[in-house]
Amino acid sequence: MNKKIRFFQSIHFKIAIVFILILLITVEIIGAYFVKQLEQQNIDSFKSRINIENYIQDQLAIDLESNDTDTANSNINDLISESNIANSADIQVVDAKGTVRGDSNVNAQGNVGQKSGSSQIKNTLYTGQTYEGFTYEGDNGGSNYTKIIPIKNVNAGSDDNSVLGAIYIKASMTSVYDDINSIIRIFLIASVIAAFLSMAISIVISRAITRPIDAMKQQAIRMARGDYSGQVRIYGQDELGQLAVAVNNLSVRVEEAQEASEAERRRLDSVLAHMTDGVVATDRRGNVIIINQTALDFLNLKTEEVIGGSILKLLKIDKDYNLRDLLENQKELLLTFQNEDHHELILRADFSLIQRETGFISGLVVVLHDVTEQQKNERERREFVSNVSHELRTPLTSVRSYIEALNDGAWQDPEVAPQFLKVTQEETDRMIRMINDLLALSRLDSGTSKMEMETVNINEFFNYILNRFDMMLKTDNEHTGEAAHLHPTKKKQYTIKREITKRDLWVEIDQDKFMQVVDNIMNNAIKYSPDGGVITARLLETHNHVILSITDQGLGIPQKDIGHVFDRFYRVDKARSRKQGGTGLGLAISKEVVEALGGRIWVDSLEGKGSTFYISLPYDPIDAEDEWDEV
Ligand code: ADP
Repeated sequence: MNKKIRFFQSIHFKIAIVFILILLITVEIIGAYFVKQLEQQNIDSFKSRINIENYIQDQLAIDLESNDTDTANSNINDLISESNIANSADIQVVDAKGTVRGDSNVNAQGNVGQKSGSSQIKNTLYTGQTYEGFTYEGDNGGSNYTKIIPIKNVNAGSDDNSVLGAIYIKASMTSVYDDINSIIRIFLIASVIAAFLSMAISIVISRAITRPIDAMKQQAIRMARGDYSGQVRIYGQDELGQLAVAVNNLSVRVEEAQEASEAERRRLDSVLAHMTDGVVATDRRGNVIIINQTALDFLNLKTEEVIGGSILKLLKIDKDYNLRDLLENQKELLLTFQNEDHHELILRADFSLIQRETGFISGLVVVLHDVTEQQKNERERREFVSNVSHELRTPLTSVRSYIEALNDGAWQDPEVAPQFLKVTQEETDRMIRMINDLLALSRLDSGTSKMEMETVNINEFFNYILNRFDMMLKTDNEHTGEAAHLHPTKKKQYTIKREITKRDLWVEIDQDKFMQVVDNIMNNAIKYSPDGGVITARLLETHNHVILSITDQGLGIPQKDIGHVFDRFYRVDKARSRKQGGTGLGLAISKEVVEALGGRIWVDSLEGKGSTFYISLPYDPIDAEDEWDEV
């Protein structure tokens, strides 16, 4: 852009050369005309000067008619020398016969008496006409002017107009041409001086024109580079001055516009950067031109890996869609990715077109919204509904088939009827239990189940619960079923081993709900243990938690299921759980309760060796001591 202009291409040079050329042409035309005129004038006046006075001509006529040749000749010579031009020209007098009768040249007196060889003289003698001509004689002779004047009979009364002789004049024109040459020389010198002067003036003038133009050019170059700081100097009020003012205004306006669009861009950048949604913009070929940080985080990529690449590849939909599909039809797509921690990430991609007023599509904007949680919740909700229906249908189907059998006559069979009725009662109980569990869960979910918090010595409380299980074992063995509903695995033998700290630990809990949790874990431990297993109950404290754990020597939980046992209706072995009257909701409820108490529940298990369920609850030793003091 900022190409250097060579001097010969510059306006500066062009103006100067035009100036000089115009001046030189004008001067030369005037000069040529002037010199020509002057030359003509000089020659004319020279010619008019070259003449022999009339009285000399008359005398010569008389002398040429005289018979006394010698006297006449000397008279003729005297007459010639009397002429004004005798000093500047050669004069010869010839008589009618062509014989030279006198010569002004002292050294050429030998010619006198000789015949003249000049044909022009003869011609004049013959015709009686004056002859004029120019001759050019070699190196030193220069240009000569020749004039031959006839001498006629002038005697009074004589009408004889016969030619008596002629005067031959040869005058050198050197002086005329010398004059002209010196004038031409003066003229040339004046032209050269004028050329130099005009060159100097034109340089000054063109400089005055090109300097503001140059200043404006420099400003335009600076503006193109984004530098608006400069101002063009204003040299005058002429058109160039006004142009300079316009350029200065333009510079200010462009700067303002630039700043405004820069501010707009920064605002947009910061909006994009702080959006929780990912945004990707493409050009009309579908190549990415803008991507914000959120989108990069979603896709686990860096800006440089993305810019210029295809949006289809970026969203990994190049196998199923092409750009036309996106432009024409797609409003929304659900895309599944893996995030950094290899978890599933579900993104909803909303597409919209960037369109000009003319309808021309200049790009595509994709907004990526993280709907993983939503989708997961939705999926869980659907699964939950289908699980609930399924779980309720199974006992209902079996109840119906037993009732059908009874209806078909089995009621009359005293052996079978009571057994059938017992099964229907058990199934109905299980359904009621399940519905109660579901209601409890739903209350916990909706937050309507309020926690009745009390500060309890967890040590004492845990022992109390474990004592109940010991009691149950005893009463079971004695076949009294007072607390039988607490555990469905009647008659299974087990031993509870306690490893419980001696310290009193005061913790805030909802007693009823927490008891359900521990009951549930204890029941599971019994349920999923072999007969005669040892169940170890532990209680220990860390600096801000109490941790309860219950370890059994049962089936254990396969590694792949460990993450799910707290899910609703999740059972490692469905048939087995159902047979034992399980609902698959116990651990889910336990988890909700423990979390509502601000604690955590988790499990460690080795398949075939046994499981340990842990419950940790927040515990503040200082508070507990205060409490102790108060007591
Ligand atoms: P259920 O009513 O089936 O016992 P839970 O929610 O209490 O439902 O338990 C969910 C599943 O976790 C059980 O079906 C069982 O497969 C597994 N489970 C729970 N406790 C134990 C345990 N102590 N040992 C082995 N598996 C267990």
